[in-house]
Amino acid sequence: MAAILLRNGNVIDGTGSAPQRSTSVLTDGDLIVAVGPDAESRAAERAADVKIIDATDLTVMPGLIDAHVHVTLGEPASNDELFNRREPISAALLAAHNARKILRAGVTSFLDVDGLFNIGPALRDAIEAGITEGPRMKSGTFALMTAVGGTAGRMIPNEGTAGYAEVVRSKDEMIRVVRRQVKDGADIIKIHVTGLIPARKGEIQVWTREELKVVCDTAHDLGVRVTAHSRGDQATLDCALAGVDIIWHASYLGERALEAIVERNVTVGPVFTFLANLAEYGAKAGATTGAQAVFAGEMEETGARLRRAYDAGVPLLCGSESGFSITPYGHWHAREMEVFVNQLGLSPLEAIACGTSTNAIALDQKGEIGVITPGAKADILVLDGHPETDISVLGDKSRFRHLLSRGKEVDLTPIPDRAPLRGERVEAWSAVPLTWELVHP
Ligand SMILES: [Zn+2]
Repeated sequence: MAAILLRNGNVIDGTGSAPQRSTSVLTDGDLIVAVGPDAESRAAERAADVKIIDATDLTVMPGLIDAHVHVTLGEPASNDELFNRREPISAALLAAHNARKILRAGVTSFLDVDGLFNIGPALRDAIEAGITEGPRMKSGTFALMTAVGGTAGRMIPNEGTAGYAEVVRSKDEMIRVVRRQVKDGADIIKIHVTGLIPARKGEIQVWTREELKVVCDTAHDLGVRVTAHSRGDQATLDCALAGVDIIWHASYLGERALEAIVERNVTVGPVFTFLANLAEYGAKAGATTGAQAVFAGEMEETGARLRRAYDAGVPLLCGSESGFSITPYGHWHAREMEVFVNQLGLSPLEAIACGTSTNAIALDQKGEIGVITPGAKADILVLDGHPETDISVLGDKSRFRHLLSRGKEVDLTPIPDRAPLRGERVEAWSAVPLTWELVHP
């Protein structure tokens, strides 16, 4: 049965408009074909052929979109695990497993920003071909770095690839690698514009504006967009002026960067979820907590400026950074919307619009996904709760009643826990050095 009538729900269409009470939605194949009275009459015309789902007192809204995922990283608890404990075959199998968890958290589309071993594009194609279950996906591949970059300090090699990094040492190499990544199936090119080195405090800018422009021009000539990890004012300004399409974090941006972002209407995703989880809940998971105050400060300062960008019409994306032990798959995909309400002062409906219709920009499918309207894709979440007054219900999977992905009902049974793979985790010999004094207090 290809058509489904979601009858009589409270429809949040994803554009920021108020909920439409007692409204029906009709899908046919992978499209929404009618909303409102039209949905009922068209369903009646072909009654035998339509499955009816009663959505009375339930919320009907677009499936969630996560604009910033790393589906291939496998929830490492440290850079050691990420860079030294992953090999291609098991990482690919694990990514396919984790994509199912993401779907069952109500996420019907995501952008995989960068990842390991060029697995992202292959997983995207496998999902599309029906080989494995998962959300719609667009994917980057290795993140471009100069030998300094990323957030892994000296683990970034001087050349070649490691983890999610691919080092480019000259403008010629930048051009060559961008073209090869496009050939390898990348939907988007990722640059790490700022990074950490052990001897310095904070992230430093490790690309020139000219170098960024080389990457942007090469990718754009091939019809591929560019996205950048950037912290700091100058780096974020240079991203905007070089032609970067989506800037992540934009932390500590100043007036110049803000102005350039607004003037060029550059899309920004703050990806606060990782910071918010560490700052607010890190202690529950035994996280090292020294940086909590720093993260709270970063969210406050950056949040105030990004609120001004939002008010000036800049698209703000909701991304969860899912893929690390602080942001495991299937748990925090709706959290960024909650942070947008708490940190940026958005209304829940405005935050939902960011996490649905605006987030479609991350997949370059604006208007096609993330909205409940005739002609849009039939990706629909039905839940018991009122996210327009309490945004946090979107993180509670026990409230989900139905999920349509590509017009088909998804089994929402939780994916069972799994055992660790051999060699997957770093196993310490001891938590502290076994000194003589420890034994003889
Ligand atoms: Zn990321």
